[in-house]
Amino acid sequence: MTTLAPLPFETPAAPHDLEVMRDQLGRDMRGVVSIARRCGCGRPAVVRTAPRLEDGTPFPTSLYLTLPWLTLELSRLEATGLMAELTERLGEDAELAAAYRAAHERYLARRDEVGQAEEVAHVSAGGMPTRVKCLHALAGQSLSEGEGVNPVGDEVLAMIDGAVPELVCRCREDPQDRHDPQEETR
Ligand SMILES: [Zn+2]
Repeated sequence: MTTLAPLPFETPAAPHDLEVMRDQLGRDMRGVVSIARRCGCGRPAVVRTAPRLEDGTPFPTSLYLTLPWLTLELSRLEATGLMAELTERLGEDAELAAAYRAAHERYLARRDEVGQAEEVAHVSAGGMPTRVKCLHALAGQSLSEGEGVNPVGDEVLAMIDGAVPELVCRCREDPQDRHDPQEETR
């Protein structure tokens, strides 16, 4: 197994972060390993989780977006039919498809660093390696790894004000009516 460079923005998860994530998601975030990326204000944006939860449940989405304003922006993009368009492009653009497959492999290798769950050993997230099914998961990888790893996640983040190159804080726009679309698509 090749050793990956460390996640560029990873920081430890403090007890306070767990409280913030509980507020962000409306439930406890389980399997927390670290904070992979933070909002400009310091709140967790992407949490890194173990591939197997404390109760034994496999949890393949190991770079999990928690930031409410960004979650909402991505849900809005999903509602436009963007995922079908992107999936179609993967079928037509060999270069894009190869880069997306490499992002899938990176996702698995990154997750291997923090544990194994054989049931999901070849399952990454977001529809990778051949489809686009959850923009939140793809953006989670792009935010965690930095630009140039997941071409679809990068492209989607570029459509959102304040998401790249810096993750600017827009927490004041936090939606009151919280939901967690990643729960539905897993
Ligand atoms: Zn913020």
